[in-house]
Amino acid sequence: MPSNIHLVQRKAWSILSRSFKADRVASTYLLHGPDGLGHWPLAISFAALLNCTDILTDEETDLLLPCGRCRSCRRIDELNSEVLHTAVPVGPHKNHDQMVELINEFLEQRRREPFRILTARVPVNIPIDRAREIKKSLSLKNAGGFRRVVLFSHMHRMKTASADALLKMIEEPPADTVIILTAEKPEMLLPTIQSRAQKIRLDRVPEAMAVEYLVSNYDLAAERARLMVRIASGNLGRSIAMVDDFEEPDTSRRAVGFLLFKSLFSADNPSAVAMLIEMVNDRDRSAATELLVLWQSLVRDCAYYAATGDESAIVNVDFSPELTRIARFFEQSELAGEMTDCLKIALADLALNVHIQAALVALALKLKSRIQVAA
Ligand SMILES: [Zn+2]
Repeated sequence: MPSNIHLVQRKAWSILSRSFKADRVASTYLLHGPDGLGHWPLAISFAALLNCTDILTDEETDLLLPCGRCRSCRRIDELNSEVLHTAVPVGPHKNHDQMVELINEFLEQRRREPFRILTARVPVNIPIDRAREIKKSLSLKNAGGFRRVVLFSHMHRMKTASADALLKMIEEPPADTVIILTAEKPEMLLPTIQSRAQKIRLDRVPEAMAVEYLVSNYDLAAERARLMVRIASGNLGRSIAMVDDFEEPDTSRRAVGFLLFKSLFSADNPSAVAMLIEMVNDRDRSAATELLVLWQSLVRDCAYYAATGDESAIVNVDFSPELTRIARFFEQSELAGEMTDCLKIALADLALNVHIQAALVALALKLKSRIQVAA
């Protein structure tokens, strides 16, 4: 567990730890924000704080922190505590044993990588059976005098009907029990659940901390880590997902190529684009060519979708949801033609002896200025 979650999510931690200090802990919290910002470590650290026998005060921030060393802290850190009840999204399973196996896999991964985003290849849901088990065990008397914590991670992955069954627990939480829900957006949950939870929004992870985390946990050079954090707009979990992509050269190039394409349509400072281009190796002409060919095909997808609204015709299916959003820029019909022309010229130039990075930066800025005109 990262010991500095109080700095990584300082505002959220400050709300939680102050509520504890003032003995005004809410019965239900909803931690929300894009996946990857640290909902999980925040919830676990709060569970630890609620039960720590040797609470510390951080000198710098004056916030309370769990010690991380007492028996209770260690067991919660290991996700093996009678205090902590977790319900997590898992893929399809045939029976209870399989469900338990999948849950354990999820927890094992969280132990190692608490910030990781959910990147399932199969549809995942929080199983209603697990929710029922939790409900049942909470109905037992809390004999230890500790504060039980129920964590529903990725609550928006729970089917509405199942979530409905939880409502009673949230309406009338058992004594000495804190319910923590996490979701990307509050609107993804039933209004009745939303209205009963204290909402806490997570912030972007400060760049220096995200970089430090990637460097020390994923064995990355600082420069590369910084680029990933910037591409992921301060989302640590997404940066971590990119580390995997980079180990797989083909997907990595494709992923970077798409991120670069996407950055053309963002409101970021144009210098950000130039910085991203640094990721393309200056001597690798074939990588640059591949990048531009990818962009041509992405432009085609966007233009076609803008004209027809037909998602099934998108060729780059792996980026389909995002392409349908970018497509709105192509409602102005000249944009696709202009971009295609620029790309054609750039591809021809690449075949000659031009400085690759300089050519890409110039191209990106040219495209970006067209897009701003169109937008
Ligand atoms: Zn402790």
